[in-house]
Amino acid sequence: MRRSGLSQMSVTRAWSASVASCKLCICAALFTLRLMTTAAEALQRLKDGNRRFVERLRSHEASLGGSPRMQLTQDQQPFAIILGCSDSRVPAEIVFDQGLGDLFVIRVAGNIVAPSLIGSVEFAAAQFGTRLVVVLGHTRCGAIQATLEELRRPAENQSPNIRSIVDRVRPSIEGLLRTELRNDEEALIRQAVRANVGVSVSHLRYGSDVLERLIRNEGLAVVGAEYSLETGEVEFFGAAECGAG
Ligand SMILES: [Zn+2]
Repeated sequence: MRRSGLSQMSVTRAWSASVASCKLCICAALFTLRLMTTAAEALQRLKDGNRRFVERLRSHEASLGGSPRMQLTQDQQPFAIILGCSDSRVPAEIVFDQGLGDLFVIRVAGNIVAPSLIGSVEFAAAQFGTRLVVVLGHTRCGAIQATLEELRRPAENQSPNIRSIVDRVRPSIEGLLRTELRNDEEALIRQAVRANVGVSVSHLRYGSDVLERLIRNEGLAVVGAEYSLETGEVEFFGAAECGAG
């Protein structure tokens, strides 16, 4: 029974033969393979990819992710998890010049954190051994602007589904309206975007036992970032968390 169970596991033929009688060894081998890209290395790959995007040097091969499509039918090992905004101008694979199989991307308006989104991050981090999570906000975010508008002039008969997004953005930015920033719309939105990214980062770092354990013991890093619609550049915050400044 045990042997037939093992034969169904998706391990490569080369080493499954040598460890076929030991599930522990298989787990250890998978673990080692999946730790090949550290958080710092993943961050550098994202920075390099964004530089190529900004300099319009996007590699043709990036669309294939460096791996032929058929190879990816059996497994995937994305090197970074991106929780980004759904905005059509901020597709993670393009702004980081990455391809198939490179990034595990979760997109939602306002890059908010809700239980199902935390679950998606937990799944990727635990299943694929991915060690870098990036919360990717962007300048002039419509979800942020809509929340500011809602705080100033609450809409009547708003869809409860849209309200659920606004309600998750609201706590991170309503305090800003009580500062001098309320008199400078551009600066207010800029700060609000960053505050919202910061809150999502905190939720991921401290709102999940699974992620907390991976951060503490396995080198998982959660960092914030902002994409500039104007320049195409991504600025990272808290990169020191993964040993890369
Ligand atoms: Zn947005």
